[in-house]
This record gives sequence, structure tokens and C-alpha cells, in this order.
Amino acid sequence: MHSTTADVIVIGSGFGGAVAADRLVRAGLKVRLLERGPWRRTAPVLAKGLRRAVPLPVQNRPGLIVRNLRSGSGPKEICLNRRGLLEFHAGNGVKTLTSSSVGGGSHVWAALLARPDSPDYWNGRAEGLSASVLAPHYARTESELDAVRPSNPESIPNHTSHAWGASGWFESLNESDQYPFAFLFPEQHGGRQSTDRELSELNGEDGLFGSPRAAKANVEVVYLLPHLDAGLTVHDMHEVRTLSRLRSGVYEVIAKDHHTGRVQNFQAPRVVLAAGTMNSIKILFASQEVQGLSPIEQLGKGFGTNGDCMGVWIPGAGHRNSRQGSPIHGRLKVHDHPEGISLIIGGMDVLPTPGWMPEHIKGWLADMANQRFQLIAMGVDRAQGSVSFSKGRLRLDYDLNDSAVYQAIFSLFERLSSHTGTKLKFDRKTAMTVHAMGGCRIGPSPDEGVVDGEGQVYGNAGLYVVDASVLPAPTGGPPSLTIAAWSSHVTSSLLKNI
Ligand SMILES: Cc1cc2nc3c(=O)[nH]c(=O)nc-3n(C[C@H](O)[C@H](O)[C@H](O)COP(=O)(O)OP(=O)(O)OC[C@H]3O[C@@H](n4cnc5c(N)ncnc54)[C@H](O)[C@@H]3O)c2cc1C
Repeated sequence: MHSTTADVIVIGSGFGGAVAADRLVRAGLKVRLLERGPWRRTAPVLAKGLRRAVPLPVQNRPGLIVRNLRSGSGPKEICLNRRGLLEFHAGNGVKTLTSSSVGGGSHVWAALLARPDSPDYWNGRAEGLSASVLAPHYARTESELDAVRPSNPESIPNHTSHAWGASGWFESLNESDQYPFAFLFPEQHGGRQSTDRELSELNGEDGLFGSPRAAKANVEVVYLLPHLDAGLTVHDMHEVRTLSRLRSGVYEVIAKDHHTGRVQNFQAPRVVLAAGTMNSIKILFASQEVQGLSPIEQLGKGFGTNGDCMGVWIPGAGHRNSRQGSPIHGRLKVHDHPEGISLIIGGMDVLPTPGWMPEHIKGWLADMANQRFQLIAMGVDRAQGSVSFSKGRLRLDYDLNDSAVYQAIFSLFERLSSHTGTKLKFDRKTAMTVHAMGGCRIGPSPDEGVVDGEGQVYGNAGLYVVDASVLPAPTGGPPSLTIAAWSSHVTSSLLKNI
């Protein structure tokens, strides 16, 4: 089989992969990035002339909502559409939702940026790691992702606290307590003009099903587009199966090219793995099974949900339209708010519909969404879950009763239901997370972690992991800034050691 070579192969193009590719190309290295999803049809991608780009579901393409479904039992995987956006994984006591595109999770994210709740998050995790080592990487990625707190927040529909502070159920929060947004607010709301992305009209279209105007910061726009034809080659629709370290020390990466249906072989002395928590774990297990890698004892341990719990809330007739404003409206606090729980409120996305659907049905669907809000709680769960692998299937086990954080969230949601006299619907048995993390954790030794303080996999020199799977503990709030900062740290260490 013919091999394609590079200085570094990056696998996956979400927060971890895109930042890594940017740093490596800037240092003059030849990088090949393998991504199983397609380029998406956003304004900056079209402006670059990438005609192969595939629409987002929000562009009237409901058939592109789901990519694949996986469960630990039943069929190995049901793939509905290889160009689809979302991947669901059902495990025991937990379900995960992630996405598939060049740009990874940044197509579906709500663009909230946060540093970990604890200032000591990085201290003592592994040799060479501390809050001060990570600090410059947080500052750099925050600025690259355009983190803003709008200067005129009162004018933004539904934005907390001005929208919710007076309700009597919630406490007022200062604007400085809100998470910054990587979102372009129109100028009248205190936003800025952008030269390469169009401004949002705040009409609820920049949500879970994509942001065609790239009003949310998409990482492929920020980190990948500037380097195309300048050291970076992006192989979209290339799904990595396994990695093997050859006798020469070079890594061989086997990937299926979904454009042609052919299997391809890529080789490089260094590989940066960033396929997202579930898929990085899967690739590492599968690679061990074909004896491509040295054993990784701690693989699959310490899986967590970041305490994610979502409630659906209908505040009542005559209330606000939930879909106006940014995808998530901001952070809220209830009276006697429990310690360590972060609560955010957002609108509901309208399910994308085909162009031919009658207008009255579209209107009905939109009305249903407009009346509903989502309340999402997050916190530091015990991250005691595990991921295992057998016969090509990932099995996920997670017990939410084991984490005090879920009990605190359930009682908070019950209190809110009784204060407001409107039932908040949520699931007490299964954690549904959009922030799956852990399983390839950073640790001080191979007995306590999968990667060291520079992101290198113990026993497998030249292999690095830079996505959410490495997080040594839940961040307790939105994690993507932390993933981006970690990737920036790992690649700067990698470059120093070349
Ligand atoms: C609805 C929703 C809203 C969210 N909102 C926020 C928010 O406001 N703030 C925040 O901080 N976080 C948010 N998140 C979480 C955020 O999306 C994740 O934290 C982040 O995307 C994880 O980054 P990553 O680099 O680990 O992986 P991803 O961004 O998931 O990237 C992994 C990439 O690898 C690709 N891949 C997978 N398998 C393979 C393979 N075998 N071969 C090649 N490529 C592969 C995938 O297609 C994907 O593009 C949200 C998530 C969801 C679902």
C-alpha cells in the first residue's frame, strides 16, 4: 500500500486538533490532518473556494442531522449518513452527544468559554504542569477565539441577568460572573465588526445544528483555513481505524477515505490524537488489539460527564421567545444556590426541516421551540465511569448515583419547579452529556494516567493526546477553552523537544 508522509499527523479537527495543527504549521512543520467528517458550508469556508463543503442541517437538511448511533450492546454501529453532524453513544447510565465535521464540536457548541472552576485545577497533576504553566495558553486561545462579554448586555434578548434577575426566582448576577462568549454580537448589542465572519442577527439560528455565517467561532475558520496550502493538508472524510508504531519508530496510521471507499496509509514520526473522548479511546483500544501500540494500562479509566444534566422548562403563556438572542443566554443563580453547580439557560433549537414541508407545520415546530427553555447544570462529578472495548464495540459504564453533584442538581431542579409552578423535565437515571471527558487521563505515572504532563502517551514515544479524553478531572463548566489551552501547551512542549 502506498504511504503518504508528513512531519506530524493530527487526527481530528475539533478544539484539540485544530489548535495543535495551527501551532505545528506555524513552526514550519508539514502537517496532515485526518478528519472523518466533511468541511461544512459556512461563509468563510465558501469564500476559500472549498466547493466540496457539505451543508449544515440548519440549511434545510434534516437528513444531515445524525451521523451515527452506537451502543455497548446490539449492533456495533448504525451509520445513517457519513456526512451527518451528530454522533450518539448509549452506554449504561450515560449517553453522549458529539459531532463530526472539519471543526469538530465547534459547529454545535454554544460558544461559552470558561476556565476551570478551581484555580488549582492544573496543580500537581503530573510533572511540569501547574496553573502558571497553562496560564499563557489560556490567554492566547481566549484571544484567538474572540472571547467577549458584550458591552451593551441589556439590549440582548433573554440575556441574563437583566432578563431573569427580576423574576424573583433567580439572583442577580454581575456581567463579570457571566462566561465570555466566542460569538459575534451585532454592533448595537456591544459587539464588533468582523472582516471574515458575518454578524449574527440573534434570531436563534446559530445553535446545535450549525452556524452558516460562522457567527459562533468555528475552530476550522480560526485555526485551519489560514494555513491551507501553507504546510497544512486537511484530509476530510478520512476515518482513522488504527495506529501502529513501526520498528523504525515511525507511526503508521490506517484510515478509510470515505470519498473513494479506499483504505489509506499515512506515516509520520509523530501523531497527535484529537478524535474526541469516545473516538480517541476507541482508536487506542483498537490499535492495542492489533498490537500496534505498547500496552496502556489506564486506558478507559476515569470517564466523566462534567455533571451535565439538562432540564426542559416552559415558563408559561405570554413569556419570552426562547430563540431570540445567543444560543445560550447566560448563567443563572437561584436563591441558596448549591456550591459547585453551574447553571445556564438557553433556547431550544428548531429541528431542521426539508424545504418542501408546509409552512404551517414549520410554524408549529417553531412555536413549540419558542416556548421552551433548556436549563443545563454542570458540576464536578466523581468521574468514576469506565470505558472498555470488546469485539469492536465501546462499552460505557457510569453510575450517576455515585456523584453527590447529581443529587444537588436534582434538588435544585425540584426547587425551581416548585418556585415557578412549572415542571422542569429531566432524567434522573441516565446522565446525558455533551462534555464527555477522561479515559486517557493525564497522570504522574503509567499507573495513574495514560499521558504525561506533556501529553505524550506513556510507553509510546511520539504519540500525543490533546482532546477532552485527557482531562484529569471535570472542569465543572464548559471545557473547550481548557482543551484548546492544553493542546497549545502540548504542542509547544513537542516543538521544544524536536
Ligand atoms: C450541543 C453542544 C453544545 C456545546 N457547547 C459548548 C460550549 O458552549 N462551551 C464549551 O466549552 N463546550 C461546549 N460543548 C462541548 C464541546 O463541543 C467539546 O468540549 C469539544 O468539542 C471537545 O473538543 P475535542 O477536541 O475533545 O473533540 P471534538 O471537538 O469532538 O473533535 C473531535 C473530532 O474528531 C473527529 N473524529 C472522530 N473520530 C475520528 C476518526 N476515527 N478519524 C478521524 N477523525 C475522527 C470528529 O469527527 C471530530 O471532528 C458543547 C457540545 C455540544 C454537543
